[in-house]
Amino acid sequence: AAVTTATETVLPRRKKRFAGNLKLSYRAPLTLLRGYRQFLFDQYGRTYLDGYNNVPHVGHCHPRIVAAAARQNRLLNTNTRYLHPAQVEYAEALTSRLPDELSVCFFVNSGSEANELALRLARAHTGADDTIVMDAGYHGNTNTAIDISPYKFNGPGGRGAPDWVEVVPVADPYRGPYKGSDPEAGRKYADHVRVAVERIQARDRRVAAFICEIFPSVGGQLIPPPGYYRHAYEAVRAAGGVCIADEVQTGLGRIGTHQWGFETQGVVPDIVVLGKPIGNGHPIGAVITTPAIAASFANGMEFFSTFGGSTLACVIGREVLRVVDEENLQAQALDVGTFMLDGLRALQDDHVMIGDVRGSGLFMGVELVESRDTLEPAQKAASYIVNRLREHRILIGTDGPFDNVLKIRPPLCFTREDASYLLHRLAAVLREEPCRI
Ligand code: PMP
Repeated sequence: AAVTTATETVLPRRKKRFAGNLKLSYRAPLTLLRGYRQFLFDQYGRTYLDGYNNVPHVGHCHPRIVAAAARQNRLLNTNTRYLHPAQVEYAEALTSRLPDELSVCFFVNSGSEANELALRLARAHTGADDTIVMDAGYHGNTNTAIDISPYKFNGPGGRGAPDWVEVVPVADPYRGPYKGSDPEAGRKYADHVRVAVERIQARDRRVAAFICEIFPSVGGQLIPPPGYYRHAYEAVRAAGGVCIADEVQTGLGRIGTHQWGFETQGVVPDIVVLGKPIGNGHPIGAVITTPAIAASFANGMEFFSTFGGSTLACVIGREVLRVVDEENLQAQALDVGTFMLDGLRALQDDHVMIGDVRGSGLFMGVELVESRDTLEPAQKAASYIVNRLREHRILIGTDGPFDNVLKIRPPLCFTREDASYLLHRLAAVLREEPCRI
């Protein structure tokens, strides 16, 4: 008799109850029932090494986060209209990790909501609407978040840029017009921001904000060239606009060298947006800004989010920060990430298909190309590798406008041993027929 697996019974029911645009990873979808630190377990109890998920920042089902959540759930979970020490403690702990001028917090429930709010703050402060965004950027699933996400509005089903949005080229030192070898690349990409400002002004409008993912992730795990943000922020601020840093993917130590992506370029944004990893799986979004911007927003209309800043969310968020510190996870991200990048670069020497290896800490991208001259994207090989690694029980993903970038972005408890195992298996898959060019 045929064995009925959870996948076989769940998949048809899922297809009936959800719309077709709810995507599944992998040709043979995974049914996952348990998680622990950097490991996931399927319905047979088989172990998968998680090299992909950044939401479980300190690890899936981290015992301290689980215990803090359970404890608080038994005591109280209510909203920000009542005083509770957890809320101010979390806000103080978060802001103490940011530059002094970023001292006022708003708590919401997701990265999308946080970006929506960031844009409202920018508009309230500047009295302007127009917004500059980076091509291939992604900021969330709500109406306005899609309006500022070229990945969505220029992608399948999208309706193009709204008339208040200016798109600048993604600051991609590998595939973009200005290469990483050019010491002026940062300024040259930033000049496009300057031009976008001028286009807005030429329409007799003003700039509200420049928003981008500090290290574009959906754009292909990119690290913009040095000087980019300094020049871009100067152009935006000179026109009266505010600079919003979407640190949803890069924040809280993932990049190893610094706690926040913007620090790598010596700039301080006016508004920082945090999400996914800060709650380790519990839905938390945060917007942190200056007292001046917060004051412009406090115009009489109440700001309230039923679940944003709930007692439970604040207790969990606070515990995530403690675990990051007490387990030295930023240092671990740097150590393991550097080890892995070295290993990936060694693989690059043996495989012409690996056009570029980039990253910082445990934020990494491996760009696959058919030719190192034309940079023609090797999308099929990328998909093949991800599916084959799944058969080796290792999870990674693909990203980038051509889906040809292997995306490696594990929980920060990922070890050198895990990295070695991933590299070993990746080396084996790269020797298989579909990866030969
Ligand atoms: N910003 C960035 C950079 C993201 O990667 C995401 C989610 N992938 C979001 C915003 C939206 O976050 P959420 O899905 O929690 O709304």
